[in-house]
Amino acid sequence: MVSSRDFRPRCDARDVTSAAMAAACGRGLLAPLGGRLRACPRASLRSLTSAAPLYDVVVSGGGMVGSAMAAALGHDIHFHDKKIALLEAGPRKEYHLPESYSNRVSSISPGSATLLSSFGAWDHVCNLRCKPFRRMQVWDACSEAIITFEKDDLDDMGYIVENDVVMSAVTKQLDAVADRVEVFYGSRAVGYTWPLPSHSCDTSPWVQVELADGRRLQTKLLIGADGHNSVVRKEAEIQNIEHQYDQSAVVATLHLSEATDNNVAWQRFLPTGPIALLPLSDTASSLVWSTSHEHASELLTMDKESFVDSINSAFWSNVNHSDFIDAAGAMFRSALSLLKPSGTAVRQLPPSVANVDPESRAVFPLGMGHATEYVRHRVALIGDAAHRVHPLAGQGVNLGFGDIACLTHHLSAAAFNGQDLGSLKHLLRFETERQRHNVSLIAAIDLLKRLYSTSLSPLVLLRTWGLQATNALPPVKDNLVKSQEISSEF
Ligand SMILES: Cc1cc2nc3c(=O)[nH]c(=O)nc-3n(C[C@H](O)[C@H](O)[C@H](O)COP(=O)(O)OP(=O)(O)OC[C@H]3O[C@@H](n4cnc5c(N)ncnc54)[C@H](O)[C@@H]3O)c2cc1C
Repeated sequence: MVSSRDFRPRCDARDVTSAAMAAACGRGLLAPLGGRLRACPRASLRSLTSAAPLYDVVVSGGGMVGSAMAAALGHDIHFHDKKIALLEAGPRKEYHLPESYSNRVSSISPGSATLLSSFGAWDHVCNLRCKPFRRMQVWDACSEAIITFEKDDLDDMGYIVENDVVMSAVTKQLDAVADRVEVFYGSRAVGYTWPLPSHSCDTSPWVQVELADGRRLQTKLLIGADGHNSVVRKEAEIQNIEHQYDQSAVVATLHLSEATDNNVAWQRFLPTGPIALLPLSDTASSLVWSTSHEHASELLTMDKESFVDSINSAFWSNVNHSDFIDAAGAMFRSALSLLKPSGTAVRQLPPSVANVDPESRAVFPLGMGHATEYVRHRVALIGDAAHRVHPLAGQGVNLGFGDIACLTHHLSAAAFNGQDLGSLKHLLRFETERQRHNVSLIAAIDLLKRLYSTSLSPLVLLRTWGLQATNALPPVKDNLVKSQEISSEF
């Protein structure tokens, strides 16, 4: 049966027949290159594939997600006899923990910590540097609406970890399985040749990978972890539903006015976008401020004092409040407290910021994207290559780690059962499970971004009541927390 996933997007059954006929009569072979069918002389294809080393799995893209994917497979017991390659366009970075914090941090969920533990990287993270947080407080700048999340027990809600620390921890675990996982730094993949699903003796059954320096590899399974501009996704002609937000994120490392336990992650929704203060230590926090592109440029260039004042005012000022919304919100809150006396949140005040680390301010344009398919014959997409989200929920890399847990689970079972790793059979299971989880979360994050990007009274009222009701109903809140944790539980 011919399936659209079999890399014949512009090719019907007649094309396959003509390829087979062409091969049979020796005219030259139609080899699919870059998702399109291209003529390729039979002799040159043979020499090309015979010289290229064959890997069981090639992971293209060695960011946090691709590196963790390669490490997870390298440490999997059923992969002990498999050959894995990791391709990373950038150089290897030797990491020595600097005194000052990096401005690129991630909120890591307990599920992601479990995934990193499964191949020994989480211990390295803890030995290097990470800050657990016990509570999250999210509130609206246009009303008194607030929602808090905390664990009943003494468990951590999550961890703020520098991306460099995650990379260093994962790299250590890649080094530990260097006999199974070859890492090619400074190696950009520039082209892929896809196999036909039912190959003839003249066509290669494997994915061919071409590197910028002319080297070639071939693999039974290509995993695209090459970020939101994924070359793998584009070359495979997998449709990506995407748009750019009207916001950029300004990040910076901040110093607090005084030392505190600093174990709360704070986020306030301003009409221009959410501002988040994530704990790094008793005296330092990381800023992620999503705002209009123009405002982001201003924040980047203004002097230190004005920058710090803008942050404090964004957390403390009630300039966006209106009497009408405050009154309607108060009435609803009173009604809720009659129905559920323990349901109202204890509002805490965020710490005040005293200073910003020099050179720590940076800006990132924001967008969302979702690949309509995560898999094709011998190909799987993970991480930002498959989905990109707004940072307001701190879920981007956690979704990627969830992909790894799920894909490793299915590939490990396939390896144990001696099955073809690139077969659509188990790749489709991965796709179904992950899309079921990811699509609703991505849609919810996009909806939140839109709902909170306005100060229109009816919408402010709607979200105020929604937030107050959610906060008053512990089962709903618990489900919200669980839906995020589950992303890495396999
Ligand atoms: C401001 C901001 C704050 C964020 N905060 C959080 C947070 O708190 N929590 C969270 O979970 N997520 C957060 N995210 C999202 C998170 O950073 C991303 O989801 C994550 O970094 C994606 O990792 P990745 O490995 O999939 O992709 P990338 O980080 O984009 O890595 C892709 C890698 O592939 C390599 N590459 C690309 N093309 C090729 C090629 N052709 N050949 C070889 N190599 C290639 C690149 O060099 C790169 O190393 C945030 C994002 C932003 C912008």
